[in-house]
Amino acid sequence: MEKIVKKPIVFIKSYGCAFNRFCSERLKNSLVDYFFVYNQSFGSDRNFFRNKKEEKIASEAEYLVIFACPITRYLEKMSADFISNIAKSNKNARIIITGCSLSHPETLLKNKQENKNISFLTDKEMQAFFKKNRGTAIKENYFINDAPRIGTLLIKIGCDNYCSYCICPHINKIKNVSLSEIKKEIKNIQKERFESIEFAGSCVGDWINPKNKKFKFADLVEFILLKTDLKIVNLELYPTDFTDNLIRLLANNKISKDISIPIQSGSDRVLRLMGRKYDKAILKKILDNLFRSVSELQLTTDIIIGFPGETKNDLLETLDFLKSFEFYRIDVYRYSNIKKLEKEIFGNSVDYFSEIIKDKKYKEINKAINLTSA
Ligand code: SF4
Repeated sequence: MEKIVKKPIVFIKSYGCAFNRFCSERLKNSLVDYFFVYNQSFGSDRNFFRNKKEEKIASEAEYLVIFACPITRYLEKMSADFISNIAKSNKNARIIITGCSLSHPETLLKNKQENKNISFLTDKEMQAFFKKNRGTAIKENYFINDAPRIGTLLIKIGCDNYCSYCICPHINKIKNVSLSEIKKEIKNIQKERFESIEFAGSCVGDWINPKNKKFKFADLVEFILLKTDLKIVNLELYPTDFTDNLIRLLANNKISKDISIPIQSGSDRVLRLMGRKYDKAILKKILDNLFRSVSELQLTTDIIIGFPGETKNDLLETLDFLKSFEFYRIDVYRYSNIKKLEKEIFGNSVDYFSEIIKDKKYKEINKAINLTSA
């Protein structure tokens, strides 16, 4: 007779973009027959856990898988802090670091040196690892897996925008998934009874069907709206990918109005230094169109402060620009949190920010500002 054992627990956490979330969901689906898998990969960015239950599952897990992201020092630091914290509260767990950080693991290597239970594994190595360790598990755990269920639809890998501060274009070559493959994946997502989907990949807004280049991202969105019962959530696009055609579709009630447009700066000079492919005038046109066309819009944006060469005037220009729109949330990232470098290279622009933001003139946008990495 087969021995009845508790399914070993795998706790997954992913940082960064929807591509890591897509990979974490794919890993979960490949393990659920043999493990109790809790995929905490939606939201809860700055907190390690959303509630006590999640904390308990992680503290009892046999395996902890972290999809880490190297795109900013802030995200790297969050992954590193999470790993240090969980390694203390769950000393027996095997901790696996994977995701995009495998290509630039320098920061996270420190965690590995401090803990012999930590390994860096690629997707393939991870599959082999879990195959070897799955055992004969036939009894359910007492936890209920009620993490939010959003299907992730991978449509594109890589980005060729080459923003001067971003590593993405140097990691992956561009691959647009074909419409026929996407349709197959949508069917799988529907079979799994997901109610919502999010697009996964870097800069998904410039996706095109490689087999028919006239079929673009807005056409794909329209196809999903017309031919499926899925809601589209967590839409985040490069500013110029908000085309008139797409903005027209965003008013549809099957698209969540919590939408993100990472503008990064409101100074033309800094935008040029960052290698962004738009200026303030273009941004204004897009934002005016979005606010005019999409009622109940909850538009969020990201701003980088302390970019090399940014002056106090640039920062004031950015804040004045932000002030002219009703952003729901403004996530502010400092370019680097390495104090010495900041002083030597970036001057005092981060200090300007803390000072300027106290000004009554910015009272209204103050409410929306979320200083994520200070
Ligand atoms: S648009 Fe810029 S920041 Fe975004 S993934 Fe591409 S290169 Fe990186």
